[in-house]
Amino acid sequence: AAGCSMADMAQIEQVDEAWAQLSQILPVEEAVTPAVYVNSAADLKAFCGEHGGITCTSSNARRVIEWAWARREKILFFPDEHLGRNTANKMGIPREEILVWDPFLPDGGNTPEAVKKARILLWKGHCSVHQMFQPAHVRYFREKHPRIKIIVHPECHEDVVNLSDLCGSTEFIIRTVSAAEPGSIWGVGTELNLVNRLKRRQPDKQIYFLSPTVCQCATMFRIDAPHLCWAMENLAEGHVVNQISVPDDEKYWARIALQRMLDVSTPA
Ligand code: SF4
Repeated sequence: AAGCSMADMAQIEQVDEAWAQLSQILPVEEAVTPAVYVNSAADLKAFCGEHGGITCTSSNARRVIEWAWARREKILFFPDEHLGRNTANKMGIPREEILVWDPFLPDGGNTPEAVKKARILLWKGHCSVHQMFQPAHVRYFREKHPRIKIIVHPECHEDVVNLSDLCGSTEFIIRTVSAAEPGSIWGVGTELNLVNRLKRRQPDKQIYFLSPTVCQCATMFRIDAPHLCWAMENLAEGHVVNQISVPDDEKYWARIALQRMLDVSTPA
């Protein structure tokens, strides 16, 4: 089955444990809003729904953080540390208010005092594909193409984001590069398939994948035309293959977390 190595970096048992540890330090249900990236298992979305939390995407992470802070003083953001950090950086949150929660260490590797002081707790998880982009790659492409604009996804490390010209969601990257001047040069730091698609659709621009080494998303690549065709042919013959079943209570709470995000994202 397809999956996402980043999503797998937070398991429900670990999140339950983190919540229990936080409850030893502060009144967690009143003080912390859990927020999970939509690239996550249904049980994590359900956890957020049940504990007053919300889901988010790379497009609405800022609005979700603002929504969470309007309700409770802290946010537990998982599983991608970098999306949370880059969003917090863009919002001007002081570094001392941003804490990393390592699920493999007691209290996430923090002192109770540090947890009490923090406003955003970032789960120590990452997308292995976006971690491949390094500051050296940005420098390499800038030297080679002095007119290049560097655009990256917020799942990249902050050191890469800080050296880039622009940072934003997949939708932002597509919109920005598509609207750029013909002849412009772009270094794009996100998943290879998307960069290749942009290259095909924008032949009047020079578009480079922001790494000299190829880093494909092995899990995303499992969703390919032959497998889709196989699943659809089976469906046409009345066989359901790779069926995913979500228990009713999980569906109920996951939907609540998703609905909160949709309400936050929809302009009034
Ligand atoms: S690129 Fe792959 S591993 Fe990274 S977030 Fe997307 S699906 Fe997950």
